Amino acid sequence: MARLELDDVRKVFTDDDGSDIVAVDDVTVDIEDGDFLVLVGPSGCGKSTTLRMVAGLETVTDGDIRLGGRSIVGQKPQDRDIAMVFQSYALYPHMTTRENMSFGLEESTDMADAEIDERVENAADLLDIPELLDRKPSELSGGQQQRVALGRAIVREPEVFLMDEPLSNLDAKLRSQMRTELQRIQEDLGTTTVYVTHDQTEAMTMGDRIAILDGGELQQVGTPLECYHRPANHFVAGFIGEPAMNFFDATVEGDRLVTDRFEYPLTADMREAVEGADGVTLGVRPEDIEVTADGPASDDDEFDTVVDVVEPMGNENAVYLGFEADSRDTFVATVGGMRRIDAGESVVARFPSDAVHLFDAASGDALHNRSLEDAADTEPRI
Ligand code: ATP
Repeated sequence: MARLELDDVRKVFTDDDGSDIVAVDDVTVDIEDGDFLVLVGPSGCGKSTTLRMVAGLETVTDGDIRLGGRSIVGQKPQDRDIAMVFQSYALYPHMTTRENMSFGLEESTDMADAEIDERVENAADLLDIPELLDRKPSELSGGQQQRVALGRAIVREPEVFLMDEPLSNLDAKLRSQMRTELQRIQEDLGTTTVYVTHDQTEAMTMGDRIAILDGGELQQVGTPLECYHRPANHFVAGFIGEPAMNFFDATVEGDRLVTDRFEYPLTADMREAVEGADGVTLGVRPEDIEVTADGPASDDDEFDTVVDVVEPMGNENAVYLGFEADSRDTFVATVGGMRRIDAGESVVARFPSDAVHLFDAASGDALHNRSLEDAADTEPRI
């Protein structure tokens, strides 16, 4: 097991017409021994390129990658003690599960057959597939094939697992089962893991820490709840969370924020935070908006709205609200699933001041994040 460090790592590709594409822009992340780091971001943000540089499948333009304190830049992929699992299972079709899992060890080590067998059987137990050892890939479901692909990585007992969207080919239910199982396996093995996904739910539920990339640049590294409650910037705030945070462009006028829809009172803390900012974006998460039926709005932080659309999701309803009837310019609030609320209804929406985030409109940087009772609130409660 080992610590993996990426130090100002940069990757520039050259286009066919000779122009530079900066795929990864000075990324620095320190992944502690045994940690599970999820690298998340939208398509094209540089996740796979980062992972491929760690694996040695892509050269590094600038910066350093260290494993256990030693630079691995320039080392051949096969000399790095790293195993990679891809979205496509890439199993050999003519080989059984046992052969697929043992092949790499037979080819690249001088390990005795008995030891290889033992490793394969232990991995098969861990993955709950011992009865599949003599089947070929065509006789396995997608989920089972993905377990075999994982098994092939596990038997190598590497220092690091790199996983590139390994669950994307599975249906939603199986994906969620495998998420839990992968976490259990990673915890059992204690192997440092970097897991790439574009799915923020996967990132939130799986990672000890998540690293959020956009346009090749690292936006924030933190625990899922840190990134959720204390986003470093507008991008992270909008990317993490489903339905996404609502944003309203505003200007600061004295002790108020003025948007084209409403005015919002600033607390003393907020006033201090926005000092000097030309434009500000107010952010509020759907679940923090309080929706009540008894209008009209009577407080500064309350607004008269009309329900445009209700999306029932069982456990909750996503309610799209406009500042006037039939407005397409809506924001979203979530309310309990048992609550009856209909399109066309007039309701009051309250943005509680302790739940409001403020971002600098020009840079996107967070100026003020929602208040939490204490720092421990960014950690899960058990
Ligand atoms: P996705 O989730 O869609 O796989 P990603 O976040 O993994 O996206 P990368 O595949 O790392 O993104 O690509 C990052 C950027 O680098 C993109 O703009 C991509 O077009 C570019 N890129 C990747 N590989 C090459 C290449 N071999 N040559 C030129 N440009 C490349």
